[in-house]
Amino acid sequence: MNVIFIAPPAAGKGTQASMLSKDYNLYHLSTGDLLREVSHSDGELATTVKELIDNGKLVNDELMFKLLKEKVSSLSNNNGIIFDGIPRTLEQVRLLDEMLKSMNQKVDFVIYLDVDEDVARKRATGRVTCPKCNTIYNIYFDSFDEENKCNKCKTELSKREDDTIEKFNHRFNTYLLNTKPVINYYNSLGKLSIIKNIGTKYDIYENIKSVIDKGNI
Ligand SMILES: [Zn+2]
Repeated sequence: MNVIFIAPPAAGKGTQASMLSKDYNLYHLSTGDLLREVSHSDGELATTVKELIDNGKLVNDELMFKLLKEKVSSLSNNNGIIFDGIPRTLEQVRLLDEMLKSMNQKVDFVIYLDVDEDVARKRATGRVTCPKCNTIYNIYFDSFDEENKCNKCKTELSKREDDTIEKFNHRFNTYLLNTKPVINYYNSLGKLSIIKNIGTKYDIYENIKSVIDKGNI
């Protein structure tokens, strides 16, 4: 059973993928993790991949699928794969189909985690941490006994320099725009399930599970 996970930034994809991976014994194949793994290996492509990552460049499809094939053929003892991070373009859809076909497999489910832009933005830009006890808070979702201080140890909270609101908006909308053709394609095949980001992570997970359990009967 092969599942594709598609989700905009800060949709909680990692959490859902890891729960699904455990319950169904699926290998969670994140292209980001794979590239980091390859860049730290002694393989012949390590330097090439490391240079691309360090320069903020994208790995082209040819190289990406070469790495994917190697990874997939090295796997055993699992019931399938969760693809996370790929496919993002119709060309990658085609290459993935081709790769799976050559292994007598196919894409069984495509899960789209639909997150409200406002929620995603708050998640991505509201993170603060306590430098002393490392507790992570979100300024939009947590309440504080004292403004900007850790509830546990009263230390001043610090903001991680990652996404600014502007940067996040751009990243989010670019993602939607780019993945639209992919989503439409899987929808036309009847493989797409849209899971709304409502309730706790367990509620969301139950919805994903029911899609898969229904499809497996
Ligand atoms: Zn603290």
